[in-house]
Amino acid sequence: MLIGPQNSTLHVNHVRSRISQAALAAGRDPSAVTLVAVTKGQTAQSIREAATAGVTDFGESYLQEAGAKMDELAGLGLGWHFIGGIQSNKTREIAERFDWVHSIDRLSIARRLSEQRPYHAAPLNLCIQVELVPEPNKGGVPPSEIGQIAAAAAILPRVCLRGLMCVPPQQPNSAAERAVFARLRSLLEELNASGHKLDTLSMGMSGDFESAIAEGATLVRIGTALFGSRSRRG
Ligand SMILES: *Cc1c(COP(=O)(O)O)cnc(C)c1O
Repeated sequence: MLIGPQNSTLHVNHVRSRISQAALAAGRDPSAVTLVAVTKGQTAQSIREAATAGVTDFGESYLQEAGAKMDELAGLGLGWHFIGGIQSNKTREIAERFDWVHSIDRLSIARRLSEQRPYHAAPLNLCIQVELVPEPNKGGVPPSEIGQIAAAAAILPRVCLRGLMCVPPQQPNSAAERAVFARLRSLLEELNASGHKLDTLSMGMSGDFESAIAEGATLVRIGTALFGSRSRRG
């Protein structure tokens, strides 16, 4: 197999070393940060190459697109993360096929996922998507409503509430990025202070993952820095 400069292997190594450096700079163990490769708009072959380079976790935003690639890559033992908006008529397939859902923005979706999670599967890991900066049509729960949703989601039987996720708009500089991510971390700390045992902060994308790691990200969702620009809307 040819390994050229276009091969995602090189980008995987580069992104991994940036993740490690950001973790070490923050006094954190690099292994505490999981790379989720966001593969919307990428082919199954790109996913295969990233998996060969050691990536274990993959994020998809569109169910139909994801399903076709998951079929093609079945048997590789990859971890699949759903990170897109969820319509209630899509929950069954998500509950059956994914390991994580990062984009819970209402309790009814968490309830359906719990009801539809197959009994032979491990509990489905969930994060509540938080709208830290109000934006039209971006999805996410306002901070004032997180406590209520978390309390109800935490007792659902077939899912495991793991933490919080955010997709903030681009910020002018890294200090502003860090301030936004610090708010997600403090919201998680508040939930834990009220009795939850949440261990996941899903935050940071290609443009801002180092700031997110500095503020405690445990999952970073990275697309373009790994694969280059997408061939379709992202
Ligand atoms: C597309 C997407 C990403 C990855 O974005 P990049 O800027 O390409 O790294 C991360 N999270 C979500 C929710 C996305 O939709």
